[in-house]
Amino acid sequence: MLDCALCGNRTCSTFARAVMLGRAQVDDCPVLALPEWEEKRGVVAASALTGLTTGQPAAPPPEGGVVLTSPCKDTDKRVMAELRVYNGVPTGETVHFSVFDADLLCDIVECLSGEYEDVRCSRQLGYARANLGEMSITILGDGRVNMRRMTDIEHVQEVFGALERRLIASVVCNNCGADLLSIVLDSELGEEDSNCAHTLAAAGSTVSIDLDASRQPLTGALLKETLGGRGEELMRALHDLGTTVLEAAKRLAGGEDINLQLAAPIRAAVCRTSEVLADSDGPVALAVGLRVLAGLVCVRRAHDSVMELSKMLVGEAPMPTPTLRAALEQTVSGALDPRRNPGDVHPVALAHLSRIWQAVELLARTGQ
Ligand code: SF4
Repeated sequence: MLDCALCGNRTCSTFARAVMLGRAQVDDCPVLALPEWEEKRGVVAASALTGLTTGQPAAPPPEGGVVLTSPCKDTDKRVMAELRVYNGVPTGETVHFSVFDADLLCDIVECLSGEYEDVRCSRQLGYARANLGEMSITILGDGRVNMRRMTDIEHVQEVFGALERRLIASVVCNNCGADLLSIVLDSELGEEDSNCAHTLAAAGSTVSIDLDASRQPLTGALLKETLGGRGEELMRALHDLGTTVLEAAKRLAGGEDINLQLAAPIRAAVCRTSEVLADSDGPVALAVGLRVLAGLVCVRRAHDSVMELSKMLVGEAPMPTPTLRAALEQTVSGALDPRRNPGDVHPVALAHLSRIWQAVELLARTGQ
């Protein structure tokens, strides 16, 4: 998935959901229009026709997330519970999508591997599970979280609250199909969708989301104030990683052969942010933490795109190299928004430029 936003949707999954809702056409994606992407075009079209929608009326929000609890069947000293992350869809309204974006869900769940055992997630099924000692947790795409062999109900609520503060980033808006992290990134880049009253504003069983909280620029001071010392550390990581990626892009445009090795540090920063979200206290801290997470995801996409462009420029370029180098140089300097007047840049290269451009914009809007 390129998640380049050339179609006006932050991710390909959001685009597919927009097609299902009739808010977008398959042809709006310049990459899917390429003959070599014919098969994927069929997948998006089929999703829209067959509908990955649930079509069910929304259940009422579960109080505190808890749907039911009971003693475990194999030991009455432990409890089992079914809980649900609420996606903000008013009771009785038709639910169009799974509660979680499967890719984001798995990105978040994979960060649990430092704290839980046997962590697994299926991007195809949107299903995850993790164990810790006797305890086991299952997360389903429809928002259900099943827990087994928990100490007591307080333990259930404590674990669910921390999990929900992490998982909320992957919850999908029922009106436009965008996940919360994409909506936060849209806002960070000044590209909010004013045509959608996001159902996510009411999402969360144990958390509340204030999408307008703290609109001041993302700076170390703001992060220290809302998230403490760990917030400052995250801000430094976001700034340093983003700057290093863009400097590499500049060198690449200048003809240098580059070898970025930042995938692991970026992943570590994403997972540290996820941990901070789990500990966040209140809607403002949650909103600020989500802004950092969105920024890191943006930097990760730019990083991967710089590496892909490097292959195109150094290996067999799919387009005249001078044109791509010039477009990259202009993108990094902020002179070219790849969504406008891109000349004859190949659509896949353009998608990578678009991801780099988003990081340029993001860093220009954040302080240290
Ligand atoms: S590749 Fe880019 S333009 Fe195409 S659907 Fe994905 S995000 Fe949209």
